[in-house]
Amino acid sequence: MKKPKLRELKEAITSLFSKPYTTKFPFEPHKPSKRFRGKPKFDEEKCVGCGACAQVCPSNAIEVKDIIEEKKRILIHHPDKCIYCGQCEINCITDGGIKLTDQFDISYFKSEEVIDKVEHEIVLCENCGSVIGTKKHILWVANKLGNLAYSQPILLSAIQEKLGIVSEYEEKVIPPIQRTDILKIICPKCRRIAFISDEKIKEKK
Ligand code: SF4
Ligand code: SF4
Repeated sequence: MKKPKLRELKEAITSLFSKPYTTKFPFEPHKPSKRFRGKPKFDEEKCVGCGACAQVCPSNAIEVKDIIEEKKRILIHHPDKCIYCGQCEINCITDGGIKLTDQFDISYFKSEEVIDKVEHEIVLCENCGSVIGTKKHILWVANKLGNLAYSQPILLSAIQEKLGIVSEYEEKVIPPIQRTDILKIICPKCRRIAFISDEKIKEKK
């Protein structure tokens, strides 16, 4: 039999008197390290419902569900698809809308027991009914732009509504869309149509 090397002998003796590296979980609660990447969680206050986290998620673990009839957007995090990469947290536009927690023991019978959700009100185009964005996101952009926000009709309307100022353009769009509708809540596609149809009318004249 080969004699043990000195280094191995030293390690064997040291390990006899040192603490084990593994934890005693599940018999004792495990405390994850500071940089541990556990189950992500939305922050209702900080999330504005932009959907950027869903776009960067490599495993499609974040679902963006728009319910047009209820003017509602729901963001749903599915832990069974999540790979805990942290891209959602890194790319969140508000820096805190979603954060990885230290929760690691995710066991469940039904997935509904562990999915995390956040809800937002959506703004629809008054002409075609398509989704423009969430109200909170629009206000967040307006706030970021400061005075520059007054040059964009949707942002301007959102600020006026927040301030409780009644806009003189309150009345709804009556099809066909015209140049006068550009100050109403319309999506970029309808805004373009409004400008083009106006140019065509000018050409005819
Ligand atoms: S604010 Fe952050 S968490 Fe909320 S939808 Fe946008 S990227 Fe996702
Ligand atoms: S941690 Fe990664 S996989 Fe999980 S939701 Fe965030 S981006 Fe998607």
